[in-house]
Amino acid sequence: MVVRMRRNRSQTAKRRSHHAIAGARLVKCECGTLHLPHRVCPSCGKYKGRVVVDVVAIKEREARRAKRKEREIGTIADTETRSDTEKTSA
Ligand SMILES: [Zn+2]
Repeated sequence: MVVRMRRNRSQTAKRRSHHAIAGARLVKCECGTLHLPHRVCPSCGKYKGRVVVDVVAIKEREARRAKRKEREIGTIADTETRSDTEKTSA
């Protein structure tokens, strides 16, 4: 690099003075929770006072899936223990 191109400490500091991250701007929803502007509220699923996302249905679906997964893990664990006992008995 040529000396002419060298950046001194002052120039580096001036450039970096704009590097700070500003906090997220949040707006208050009808339901009272804070959320990002121009986005659907994650807690009630409303946008511009209108329900866009059925949050209750999503919650129910997630609960159902978690329950099913738990059951599947339980059955897998059962078969594993059963095969272990079969091995030891044989
Ligand atoms: Zn809301």
